[in-house]
Parts: sequence; structure tokens; C-alpha cells
Amino acid sequence: MNAAELLSDLAVSLGADAVGWAPAVVPASAVAEYAAWLKAGRHAGMGYLERQLSARSDPASRLEGVASVLVLGVSHAFADPGVPAGGVRVGRVARYAWTPDYHDQLQPVLNRLEEEAARLGVRARGYVDHGPVMERLFAAGAFLGWRGKSGMTISTRLGAFMTLAVLLTDLPFTGAAEAHPDRCGRCFRCLAACPTNAIGPDRAIDARRCISYLTIEHRGPVPPELRTEVGDWLFGCDVCSEVCPWTGKAGALARLLKPDPELAHPDLGAFFGVSERAFERRFVGTAFLRPRRKGMARNALTVLGNTRAPQGWPLLLAGAADPAWEVREAAAWALGQWGEPGPLRALLNDPHAAVRAVAAHALREASSPLNPV
Ligand code: SF4
Ligand code: SF4
Repeated sequence: MNAAELLSDLAVSLGADAVGWAPAVVPASAVAEYAAWLKAGRHAGMGYLERQLSARSDPASRLEGVASVLVLGVSHAFADPGVPAGGVRVGRVARYAWTPDYHDQLQPVLNRLEEEAARLGVRARGYVDHGPVMERLFAAGAFLGWRGKSGMTISTRLGAFMTLAVLLTDLPFTGAAEAHPDRCGRCFRCLAACPTNAIGPDRAIDARRCISYLTIEHRGPVPPELRTEVGDWLFGCDVCSEVCPWTGKAGALARLLKPDPELAHPDLGAFFGVSERAFERRFVGTAFLRPRRKGMARNALTVLGNTRAPQGWPLLLAGAADPAWEVREAAAWALGQWGEPGPLRALLNDPHAAVRAVAAHALREASSPLNPV
């Protein structure tokens, strides 16, 4: 076996569900497309993506002499681990976050591949989603899948629930320089199902409208005009992946990553009445750290406002008294959805203007003859 075959085999033995090699080339057309996406502001508040543009365009800036990329696809298509007893377990979590942070689980795989590459005399550097690398472009070049109309990499075998990791290497690329063919055909399910119309006709997501962005990366209040569309998504959104027929064909395949019921169906009460430090200790090593406690509490209140799940009532009151104004603002909105004027009136005296404004608006709506309380 040559070095490329040895590394591919090792990746599979370490848990990768799909592997392939791509040339370490980023075509000018891909760079232009990405730059246009940024210029249109569709990356929303993720300013770091602009700063990474030149590095993304040039893999050699990550590894001198890079010539090929080993791409790993790891399935996170789990069966639902079930809902634990107790607590307020309302709202959905995107499947990739049902397991402890996948970065932490895939980094040791990449470390092991880097070690093996060094033993073989190959220079290599691994990335799992946190570096300025065009993983989806390389995944198509490695024949792991194609960029679907949802913007996600879709595999005929693994569907859309696939996490990517890459190993840049200086091994010469010896395969055919072509990309996986498009298998979307006449399907438009993901575009039709997206709750916020976030998917553009150019297979690019407008993060400003995407529930995944709004519930994970976005800081501050969720735009009021999109709160109802967020529905019961507590963290992320899987709608465009779930409806993809290729995901349906794949079934539950995950081998390396294992779901944790406490992450798949968390108790919303864990986000209230605790300090940020206590929250970090409770959820260390999970994706919930990204939006932080106040982001998760904000999301929980959006879910409770939309679902009006009765067991969530104490959390609305806790949210209205939260130290973070973003949480109180979300509580004011949720209380308005419930049509509860008592706690809303108290928020008219809130120290933050945004909270007072939402409470006043909600009270006006609640007293409308069309919405009798
Ligand atoms: S993740 Fe959800 S909101 Fe974002 S594009 Fe997909 S379906 Fe739309
Ligand atoms: S849902 Fe249909 S259009 Fe969307 S990515 Fe999947 S196959 Fe393509």
C-alpha cells in the first residue's frame, strides 16, 4: 500500500464513515463565489469569515507545499436516544449537537493521522471545521458528496448528516481532478421546507435568516419578524437535512459519534437561575457553549413562546427576572405570545429600553379586541 492508501485505511479504522482524496486546489471561481456571498452580507455577524478569505483561497497558507487533501466524512445520523425523565424538555436540538462537541472527538483522529503521516515522511495538517479551509469544496473533489441545493454536502450513502474533517498533505494528487456529480435532480424539498426562506437559488444560505445561525452564532435578540418561524428549534435547525431524500435513504449510521439524551433533549431549566460559570461547568465539551447561557436561555424562551408548553411557565417568570437583558427581552416576547399581561406590566419598568419596548408592544397586542386576554 502507498502512503495515501495507508492514511485512508487508518482514517476508516479510526471511525471515518467515508474518505476520499481531492487536489488541494481552490479554483478562482469558488473564491469569487465565496467573496460575493460575503459582499452580499449573507454571512451576517460572522465577521471572522471575511478575515479568513485569503487563507481559505490559498491552502498553501495553511501547509507549505500542500498538494492533496484527505477528506473524512463522519456520520451524525443517530437514532433518537430518548427523552430523559424530569425537567422541561421542550424544543429540538440539531443532531450534530446530540453528541459531545465533535471538534473534540475528531481532533484526536486528525492528530493520529498527522502522526502516521509524519512516520511515512508526509507533511500533514488536520482541520475540523475551525480553520480557514474550504471543506465542502474538497469534499466534492474527493467524491464524498456534492453541494446540494441546501448548501450542505450531500452523500448518496450518508445523506446530509455528515461532519467533515480534512487532512492537508504534501502527497501528490494522483486521481482525476473532477467533482462529485450533482444528484439533486429536480428535487426542491429543502428550499420548500426551510421555515425562513434562508436558502438562495445559488445553493448558498443567507445566515441572516437561517435558524442555525440565529440560535447559535447570533448575539442579542432574534429578529422579531423571524421568531415565530424559529418554531421549536432550541439549538440549530435540521429541517433542510431531514427532508433531503438522501438522508432518508441513509438511516442511522453513526459509528464514532454517540448521542447523549441530555444533549438531544436538554432540560430548559438548566439555562435559568445559574451563573454563566456554572453553565459552562455543566456543559463543558458541548456545542451549547457557543451561544453561552444567555443565548440558550433566549432560545428556550423563543421555543416556549412558540409552543406555549404549560410546564415552561416558571421559566418565563425566571426569564423575566434574568440578569441578561437579552433574556428578559425574549421573556417579554414569550409572555406576549402567551397573552400574560401581569408579568409584562412589570417589564414596562425594566432598565433596558429594548425590554420595555417589547413589553409595551406585547401589552398593546394583548389588549387588542382581536386578541382578548
Ligand atoms: S438550517 Fe433550517 S433555517 Fe437554515 S437553511 Fe436549513 S432549513 Fe433553513
Ligand atoms: S433536499 Fe433535494 S434539492 Fe435539497 S439537497 Fe437534498 S436532494 Fe438536493
